[in-house]
Amino acid sequence: MAVAAESQQEEKSPSKASAVERRWTLNDFDIGMPLGRGKFGHVYLAREKRSNHIVALKVLFKSQLKQSQVEHQLRREVEIQSHLRHLNILRLYGYFYDQTRVYLILEYAAKGEVYKELQKCKYFSERRTATYISSLAQALIYLHGKHVIHRDIKPENLLIGIQGELKIADFGWSVHTFNRRRTMCGTLDYLPPEMVESVEHDASVDIWSLGILCYEFLYGAPPFEAKEHSDTYRRIVKVDLKYPLKPIVSPGAKDLISQMLVKDSSQRLPLHKLLEHPWIVQNADPAGVYRG
Ligand code: AMP
Repeated sequence: MAVAAESQQEEKSPSKASAVERRWTLNDFDIGMPLGRGKFGHVYLAREKRSNHIVALKVLFKSQLKQSQVEHQLRREVEIQSHLRHLNILRLYGYFYDQTRVYLILEYAAKGEVYKELQKCKYFSERRTATYISSLAQALIYLHGKHVIHRDIKPENLLIGIQGELKIADFGWSVHTFNRRRTMCGTLDYLPPEMVESVEHDASVDIWSLGILCYEFLYGAPPFEAKEHSDTYRRIVKVDLKYPLKPIVSPGAKDLISQMLVKDSSQRLPLHKLLEHPWIVQNADPAGVYRG
């Protein structure tokens, strides 16, 4: 469908305009089974009639977006995600709207949510974790190169494609920035000390979250989890990092996590160095594919 959209755009304007500018309507799609339900609407499997391309159509209700005052956030999400092209980032092909709803035309991630997989398996193997972390590091290198900070890397925002490749799916908290930021966002468990303490932060917040994710994949729970928010907060700020005895995790994995979960953001392992870390090199699938 992307090809159809882009070639159609080329007919209108030979300049390299974005596929998002194509004027879609609901009539362009056959709607199939529901794929899931989010906070602001529903997601359906759909087929673009002209190209037969299978997509996920996310239907958001304007009234709910307005009520929660997230229209601005959605606009930013669409603006950022529609310009990104990476195997490990879910494509946003375009959007359209009618009087009551906004529709997002998304790449279909056939193998569903990482969050559900993690719930099912309790924790992932080192091979699977290393493959996912390596893929995400590559996606984040691409994003940071475009001055985009994701700021909300966590299992709930990750989907799995047909080949078993990981896809970053939610850009609701991402920012396009050349500056350091102070905004507080995201889930507490994944927030780095500088965001918990509302001091300035930059792209290295995503390295911290990747460290949290690596830990959660291997142990089945994030490292600073606590019953009370205030305790999680305290543990993050102190970097109170403990490695449980079970499940057994190799020293290489722990070494990598310890190099990402560093309070001083300038001392966190840079993403290109992460890709060279021996544990990643030994365990990650070079094609970024986990088939189970
Ligand atoms: P969301 O509103 O983004 O939280 O989406 C609700 C649910 O729909 C998710 O939890 C997924 O199970 C499913 N879903 C969303 N987007 C896609 C997609 N692109 N491909 C497959 N399933 C999706």
